[in-house]
Amino acid sequence: MPCEQNGSPAGVLIKTTLVDYPGRVAAAFFVEGCNLRCPYCYNSDLVVKNRKYEAVSAADVLFHLKRRRNVLSGFVISGGEPLLYDSLEELIMQARGLGYNIKLDTNGMCADRLKRIISSAACPDFIALDVKTSPSRYTMLGSAADTAAGAICSSIQMVSALAPAQREFRTVLVPSLIQKKDIEEIASLLPKDASWMFAPFVPGGCIDARYNDLLPYTDAQLNELVSYARRYIPGAQLR
Ligand code: SF4
Repeated sequence: MPCEQNGSPAGVLIKTTLVDYPGRVAAAFFVEGCNLRCPYCYNSDLVVKNRKYEAVSAADVLFHLKRRRNVLSGFVISGGEPLLYDSLEELIMQARGLGYNIKLDTNGMCADRLKRIISSAACPDFIALDVKTSPSRYTMLGSAADTAAGAICSSIQMVSALAPAQREFRTVLVPSLIQKKDIEEIASLLPKDASWMFAPFVPGGCIDARYNDLLPYTDAQLNELVSYARRYIPGAQLR
């Protein structure tokens, strides 16, 4: 059943992507708005809803999914933070009704909503959870100290309870946010069979302009950190 919000602009549509849904040719909808302000974020326009981009509605997205369902098999809902989007469940159910497998990317800050969606018929087929640093350091991401640590820990627990083929954990190797001690702490929270995907930090276009001058890890340092993570979680990989 189409919902009222479906006609309002809500994000950016990538019509075809080979990199956002493991093993699938997909479309991706990046929902605007976010409840974090990660200093390295390069999606600032989307995060603050500064519509320099072409904003499309869920109805536009569904129109595309219907037209391309012979070519695409995956639908990624990302952001921003998609769990802030009121019509998320309706969008998932309608895309699923068109035959799509659904992947949700989340920052783990809306733990209550994540819980509701996981236990509903709209549970995504795959969830990628960002774990950005040690829980106690989420204040560096513009989040309130008293809520963020609890939210990310709850979200990790919920996603960990999914089947291994249904989940991955993701961490950007930002030098100020991830050092060996953070890797140890995060690893202690993840299931041993986790798929833990690391990405290099690339300066440029960051929300916090100071991060544009932050020296990224070298290739050797990146490999060392991921090898270190693999001591605890064998499925750690540099993407
Ligand atoms: S990087 Fe951080 S601020 Fe940017 S969209 Fe993701 S969670 Fe939001």
